[in-house]
Amino acid sequence: MGITPQAMLADHRDEIERAAAHLRAGRLVAIPTETVYGLAADASNARAVAEVFQIKARPHFDPLIVHIADRVMIPKLVTDFPPLAETLTRRFWPGPLTLVLPRIPDAVPDIVTAGLDTVALRMPDHPLTLAVLQRTGRPLAAPSANRFGRISPTTAAHVRDELGDRIAMVLDGGPCRTGIESTVVSLAGDRPTLLRPGGTPVEAIEAIIGPLADPEVSAGTAAPASPGMLERHYAPGTPLQLMSHPPTSPPRVEGRLGLLMPQPCRDVDVSVYSQVELLSASGDLTEAATNLFAAMRRLDEAGLTLIIAITAPQSGLGIAINDRLRRAAMR
Ligand code: AMP
Ligand code: MG
Repeated sequence: MGITPQAMLADHRDEIERAAAHLRAGRLVAIPTETVYGLAADASNARAVAEVFQIKARPHFDPLIVHIADRVMIPKLVTDFPPLAETLTRRFWPGPLTLVLPRIPDAVPDIVTAGLDTVALRMPDHPLTLAVLQRTGRPLAAPSANRFGRISPTTAAHVRDELGDRIAMVLDGGPCRTGIESTVVSLAGDRPTLLRPGGTPVEAIEAIIGPLADPEVSAGTAAPASPGMLERHYAPGTPLQLMSHPPTSPPRVEGRLGLLMPQPCRDVDVSVYSQVELLSASGDLTEAATNLFAAMRRLDEAGLTLIIAITAPQSGLGIAINDRLRRAAMR
């Protein structure tokens, strides 16, 4: 797609320097990644990280992902980087895979990890953010740059609308390519465990390291907790109802209905809906994931009474799409 990473870096040289200077001074910068825009702070600065929690209104028990640009950072953060971690990161970094690993006690302040004895690590795949990380010279703690529980931002404009006046800078790196948060896998327990489906398909990980344990199934065993996996999340303000296919007779509600379809559905009477968002006309679930959050925002801004969302097939990025839709539907 158009512009090369080199050209992008050349175009943004001053902004990269400014972003790094803000971060080193303990200020917050919204950074582009391939997943969603992040609200970044120097992970070694407890006061800066506390401000991330405050601006997002994020509960303090919900730990942040620590972002790195260089593998030399790894031994400064974790006590053990097992062969499985080596294998997975050689294949998927930089990219939408986060690994939870045992942490070195004082490597980052407790507020970053919610006091857990593990830390979540990721190397994001965006040339501007990799350059900012390199120029800052420190790992960055960054959750999505939205208020807690709301829809994650996939463009710089989304961030400016929601947080723009409260942070030092929004670094505009264009729309996010993957558009859905990273897959989170814990390697800190007895067995590799899937904590959150996301931008790296579960099947691609399992093809390399075998089946991942499911935290709900292994709960009560030595499965590592993932405190942030709150049920309701990624939610539009408008009520959202999840269905496996469009209803033949839509629910009788006063007002206007919206329809969100990951892929085309047969036998839908679209005339019933005031607004229809089709995430991928060709039924490509990767494309659908990329478009999910922006479509949810458009539906939320359309003054609808109810959004009907249709589940994706439960494979590839469809698993992550369904996870986000399920959380958005909770009240
Ligand atoms: P995000 O909300 O995208 O910033 O993702 C952060 C999520 O990663 C948290 O809500 C947790 O579910 C998970 N996470 C981060 N750090 C840890 C950790 N040390 N142990 C388990 N899960 C973690
Ligand atoms: Mg988030």
